[in-house]
Amino acid sequence: MEKKKNHNKRRTFVKGAVLAGCGSMLPGLVKAQASDGGRRPKKLLRIAHITDVHLSSDNNAPARFNACIDKIKERKIDFFLNGGDSIMAADGKDIGREQVSEMWDLWKTSRNRFSEYEMYSCLGNHDMWWAAPDKVDPMYGKGYAMQQLGMPSTFYSFDKKDWHFIVLDSNVDGGGALGNKQMQWLSDDLAKLPKGTPVLIMSHYPILSASTHTVGGNHKDSLQVTKILYKHPDKRIHCIGGHVHLFDTVVYNNVHYYCNGAMSGYWWGNGDEDSAQKYWYHETPPGYTIIELFEDGAMENHYHPHQF
Ligand SMILES: [Zn+2]
Repeated sequence: MEKKKNHNKRRTFVKGAVLAGCGSMLPGLVKAQASDGGRRPKKLLRIAHITDVHLSSDNNAPARFNACIDKIKERKIDFFLNGGDSIMAADGKDIGREQVSEMWDLWKTSRNRFSEYEMYSCLGNHDMWWAAPDKVDPMYGKGYAMQQLGMPSTFYSFDKKDWHFIVLDSNVDGGGALGNKQMQWLSDDLAKLPKGTPVLIMSHYPILSASTHTVGGNHKDSLQVTKILYKHPDKRIHCIGGHVHLFDTVVYNNVHYYCNGAMSGYWWGNGDEDSAQKYWYHETPPGYTIIELFEDGAMENHYHPHQF
């Protein structure tokens, strides 16, 4: 596919740029190569970032999702990060209990096929059933979605190898925001880390993205979040998001913000007049991301279009 060719070319270019000393793109990588006689920094983790799976029984989505997971398994990853919108949509005001159950059942069946892998999830805006008859209904809101996804809390952090991972809940204050409590928690969580800790932050809505200028969907509180991240120049901080089904990378204040494309592309449908190709949303194909994390805090984010 044409897009895939371009992607591969870009990867080649990045490698070439590093060799040529274009340090602004991957400063940590270049520094490490210079300081230890050309040895590449050790790779510590390989992770699959899947997002916007939007699972339902339509369009043969479960089988196509399962095929993607099988492809990802071939890449020998350590664990999964799931960026949210795992099911098609529980948030519509006319969605009934049976529909919500059916979507989560499909998710569970697919998830069981790769249960040997850990998965850390965040909540997407379509994962919650707000139309439940009342708020004490066991299927209402975030609690039920968290249960389905095996989440310990709406936002949380954990450590793997020498890396720190932060999972945020973008679904506050009407969507695309963290709210005061979570903002303070983020600030405290980063402040507690030893100097120089590499950090990967996952959110559903992108914290900062170029695509959102065309289709909307950015975090509304980017200013506050970027100011918190700016207080940690000793740490290599990287952010990943989804939600808009488009792929882009933004670098701001030395933090890389990767907005990764959707596993479901055009919600598993053929597309519309704006789709550059069948199944694509605008110019982004359906796909998943393989992330490589290095000992020096460098990160590589490789988006892999799929054809299922
Ligand atoms: Zn979303």
